[in-house]
Amino acid sequence: MTLLASAVHALSGLLDVLRVSPLYRSSPRYVLDQPDFLNLVVGGGTDLAPDELLDATQAIEAAHGRDRSKERHKGPRTLDIDLVLYGDRVIRSGRLTVPHPGLTERAFVLVPLLDLAPDMVHPETGRPLRDYSRAVEGQGIYLHGDGRLYSGPSGRA
Ligand code: ATP
Ligand code: CA
Ligand code: CA
Repeated sequence: MTLLASAVHALSGLLDVLRVSPLYRSSPRYVLDQPDFLNLVVGGGTDLAPDELLDATQAIEAAHGRDRSKERHKGPRTLDIDLVLYGDRVIRSGRLTVPHPGLTERAFVLVPLLDLAPDMVHPETGRPLRDYSRAVEGQGIYLHGDGRLYSGPSGRA
């Protein structure tokens, strides 16, 4: 199983009514001399509080080889799971900013999220998320293969 498929499988243990967006490849931002990233958005319900969900997603990152002490900031990493939205909650704690600030400025977050929830409204601004699409045009985001996480018997993704 590929790393991303394994991570989504792990998330399915945390979330019910799991939905998975198509898989996208995107050009790196911020630090440009690194390979493309693969991105997708997963949605579902959970009984976990936001902090508990973050603990659980960070445990999944660690289980997939992520070691923040060895990373360059905004550089390559094995797996990064961000909590983009938590219902319509607005959270600002030491550990969490929700909605994630990248939501409205990163095509690789906005595009797959809109695939899952085309009519979703931003909980802070009250604007439909699709209104932010124009601002992220031209950022270089492409369906990866046919967009399916499991692409063929070789399991390559
Ligand atoms: P970015 O958040 O800009 O995408 P990043 O994902 O590379 O950056 P990380 O090193 O993965 O940043 O995370 C740094 C810290 O961000 C985490 O330890 C976590 O406490 C905090 N954080 C704040 N808000 C969120 C959120 N919505 N989802 C995940 N982590 C968050
Ligand atoms: Ca991130
Ligand atoms: Ca992160």
